[in-house]
Amino acid sequence: MSENQNRERNGLIAGLIVAIILGALTGYIAELVALFLVVYVAFQFAQLKKLYVWAQDVNVDELPFEDGLLGQLAEHIQQCKKQRIQQKESVKYQLERFKKLISVFPDGVVILSLSNNIQWFNDQAGKLLVLEKRDTGKPVNQLVRSPAFTRFLKGASEESVTIDGPSVETNFSTEKIEIRVLPYGEDERLLLVRDVTKVERANQMRKDFVSNASHELRTPLTVMKGYVEMLLLSTEGEEKFSPPLHKVEQQVIKMETMIDELLALSRLEDGNVENTASSVNLRSLCEQIKLEFDGAAEKNEQVLVFNIEPSISLKANKVSLLTVVRNLVGNAIHYSARGSVINIGWTVNDDSEGVLFVKDAGQGIAARHLARLTERFYRISEKNTLHKTGTGLGLAIVKHELERHEARLVIDSKIGEGSTFQCCFPAARVER
Ligand code: ADP
Repeated sequence: MSENQNRERNGLIAGLIVAIILGALTGYIAELVALFLVVYVAFQFAQLKKLYVWAQDVNVDELPFEDGLLGQLAEHIQQCKKQRIQQKESVKYQLERFKKLISVFPDGVVILSLSNNIQWFNDQAGKLLVLEKRDTGKPVNQLVRSPAFTRFLKGASEESVTIDGPSVETNFSTEKIEIRVLPYGEDERLLLVRDVTKVERANQMRKDFVSNASHELRTPLTVMKGYVEMLLLSTEGEEKFSPPLHKVEQQVIKMETMIDELLALSRLEDGNVENTASSVNLRSLCEQIKLEFDGAAEKNEQVLVFNIEPSISLKANKVSLLTVVRNLVGNAIHYSARGSVINIGWTVNDDSEGVLFVKDAGQGIAARHLARLTERFYRISEKNTLHKTGTGLGLAIVKHELERHEARLVIDSKIGEGSTFQCCFPAARVER
């Protein structure tokens, strides 16, 4: 026990002894002891209250008691107070540093609450989203008015959204901004805002170039194709001319296909929203495909087997769906061996998605290629294939067309065993 505690205890015992002696002398022992205890407790209570009031005030430095147990306690509290002040200063300093660091970021940063209210933003975010300090606490989608952004905030299924910069109206040169959302802390989200005006302009230039060049190349190619066909007819059977002319014809066809596909991709990229909610019966769509491809399949001694119930329809765009199935069935024919069977069917997967699939027993695709097949111009070595006029654009178009229907392409393949291309449509698009 410390010296202070001993002194405190001895004082209490001495007081009690004095009260007992006085009680014995006057004949009121119990009353005097009780009186002493009441006075003692009241005194201690007043001291504790004084200590409490002092402990609450961070600005008062002077100790309320110099010695005794309460003095010791006050000293301890004083130390804790000092530590807390130091910690607060350090957190404040770190926060300032963090804010300074974020403020020199070239990108905008906004901290949002889970209900999308703005908690804090850096200067760059203020510029890009035209926010002012008084906007702190307000819902961000009321300040950044864009339906695409509001949809993105609600779902955030895509990685990012690109919208017109609200600052266009304020003559700031940002035309396009890209916004991403990241979870941050337990109940906050981080909005990252980037100026993508230059990237978007370059993208637009690329799109315009591809589209214009494709249009311009179409006419000379049609002329060339006409002359090649004419020459082929007039030199029929001539060993010297026929093979090279056939090669030229093959390349002209390839270029023509490439131009058509590039133009189709340009149209898809422009995102012109055509109706994607008509009721399209899959059975009759496949009958059309069968008519188109039966000839090509027969030539390769292949069989097309369609297995789709007549009752199944999709809310979709018919032309888009035809493009998708045409590409997949065309590929299955091109990349399968003679005499093989190609199955086209319908099923529902574990995620309740409606799946239209094209399954072949062809050469198959090595796993390392699978993730890249939907990239433009991506082709697996031409050496092993009979399909010499392929462009590598077909599956890119398929992917884009499916995206317009919120659908996805799943490719399953094994070398030597064949491939299955599945178009998975959300349940909401399936009609029975
Ligand atoms: P293209 O067929 O015009 O070359 P695609 O984009 O349709 O272009 O296909 C890209 C590549 O994917 C093809 O070059 C081919 O190597 C491979 N591929 C596509 N479908 C199949 C298939 N059913 N079986 C094997 N390989 C395929």
